[in-house]
Amino acid sequence: MKKAIVTGAGLSGLSASAYLAKKGFEVDLFEKHEIPGGKARIFSAEGFTFNMGPSWYWFPEIIEKFYNDFGLSSVDFYSLKKLDPGYRIYFDNDLFIDIPADKDALNDVFETVEKNSSRKLDKFLKNASQAYNLITNRLIYKAETGISGWFDWDILAVLLKFKLHGSLAHYARSLFKDERLIRIIEFPLAFLGAFPDKIGSIYNIVNYGCLKFGTWYPQGGMYKIVDAWVKIINDLGVSIHYSNEVEDFEVINKIVTGIFTNKKSLHADYFVSAAEYHHTEQLLSREFRNFTEKYWRNSVISPSALLFFIGINTKVKNLIHHNVFINSDFEIYMEDTHVNWKWPEAPSFYVTCISKTDASSAPEGMENLVALIPVASGLEDSGKIRDHYFSYIIQNLEKITGQIIMDKIVYKRSYAQTNFISDYNAFQGNAFSFANTFSHYSKLNKLLRNKYLTNLYYTGHTSLQGFGIPMALLSGKLVTGKVEADYNKLHS
Ligand SMILES: Cc1cc2nc3c(=O)[nH]c(=O)nc-3n(C[C@H](O)[C@H](O)[C@H](O)COP(=O)(O)OP(=O)(O)OC[C@H]3O[C@@H](n4cnc5c(N)ncnc54)[C@H](O)[C@@H]3O)c2cc1C
Repeated sequence: MKKAIVTGAGLSGLSASAYLAKKGFEVDLFEKHEIPGGKARIFSAEGFTFNMGPSWYWFPEIIEKFYNDFGLSSVDFYSLKKLDPGYRIYFDNDLFIDIPADKDALNDVFETVEKNSSRKLDKFLKNASQAYNLITNRLIYKAETGISGWFDWDILAVLLKFKLHGSLAHYARSLFKDERLIRIIEFPLAFLGAFPDKIGSIYNIVNYGCLKFGTWYPQGGMYKIVDAWVKIINDLGVSIHYSNEVEDFEVINKIVTGIFTNKKSLHADYFVSAAEYHHTEQLLSREFRNFTEKYWRNSVISPSALLFFIGINTKVKNLIHHNVFINSDFEIYMEDTHVNWKWPEAPSFYVTCISKTDASSAPEGMENLVALIPVASGLEDSGKIRDHYFSYIIQNLEKITGQIIMDKIVYKRSYAQTNFISDYNAFQGNAFSFANTFSHYSKLNKLLRNKYLTNLYYTGHTSLQGFGIPMALLSGKLVTGKVEADYNKLHS
């Protein structure tokens, strides 16, 4: 039987394991932590259950397609609730705009802020639908070929159109005058890893996701997604080895023959690493690495994140499930994070309060808050720095809620660059992979397989352009296609 070993039980590793097993591979999945999920893990403390990673369930249609590949549907595992409003954006802490789930209501919101802007929003979303259809139906399946696979007139025509729009920041400014509407378009860029001026307008696909399809929540929590994929791979017979960190590959005559973990060793025919690309390369001797250290040093890394998991022993006012706080220094903040690579003076940030929707996430009468500040990767990270930003967030929350929050905190944990390194072997402590820029995409995506060791493959959020849960799941599907094609070539 054909045997495959997958490293890393994050969403990408779970997806790769599922697709490989479906294709008839005997799969062993190795994960350094004692639970699956990777960045999508949860932890519980003092009666609270906190999401450590994803909280925005966007693009339900794309996620659904992954379940469909296994003859299943998300309803087999959880029910989805559409949040309305999808999210709230605070500007300078007092004024806020709620983003309604319904498109007509959204048009009204835009009109209230700027006359005639709903027509422009329609135009923006119509263009975005073209990007969405191109990317989801065609481009992502060409991801492994890199730019050479895009030489197709339909694809080039749409790409050219978006190229003419310039960056997303420029495109948004050509349509809207009011800074608040521009920020509504720009805020998801905080997770895309580059300065807004460097992110192409084709990334309005992200706006399309949140404004057109809306923001959803799996009842019972985001970890339901991980539970679902673990159930799928268990049913397909995948063996999962938790608390097993892959430390080395055995290489004989330029073929990988096995792995060594901190606990055991195992042989196989094919090896898929869903751990970070850079980390996987570090496990190989220099001669077998696809990229040099210089390449990685010069790559534009996405931000890391400073997270606070906070339990509060009272109900808080004026917060909904998703809350984004954008202050007037947004541009300076983005520059500090993406250009100057320093801790920001007055960061914009995001707070999720899932207890507003999900009573099981906090003890009765209490609130579960996770605050997230995207910050540059590779910065010095210390308790003192974290404390400074914790006070900053609590002060801002106190202003918004009109409540004393500091005295009501019954649980607090912080998480930042050093945790991303120790937990995920994340390059420079990044949280969101690499910047979604054209030059990086053209190099990395076509190297889903090692150039020298032809049975070693890379998958996961650092191996593909794009962001989030859909791309993690897609990466498992893409890498399986590559492994299967190589297997068939060898055995034809
Ligand atoms: C704070 C935060 C918020 C986010 N919010 C959202 C959101 O709202 N919506 C959204 O769609 N996406 C969000 N994302 C992005 C999303 O979480 C990721 O894109 C996705 O989870 C990445 O999955 P992955 O499997 O590629 O990588 P990972 O989750 O990093 O998985 C890699 C796995 O490999 C394991 N590993 C590493 N090295 C080894 C080794 N040597 N041996 C064995 N195992 C190893 C790690 O422990 C980990 O389990 C967020 C991410 C973060 C960090």
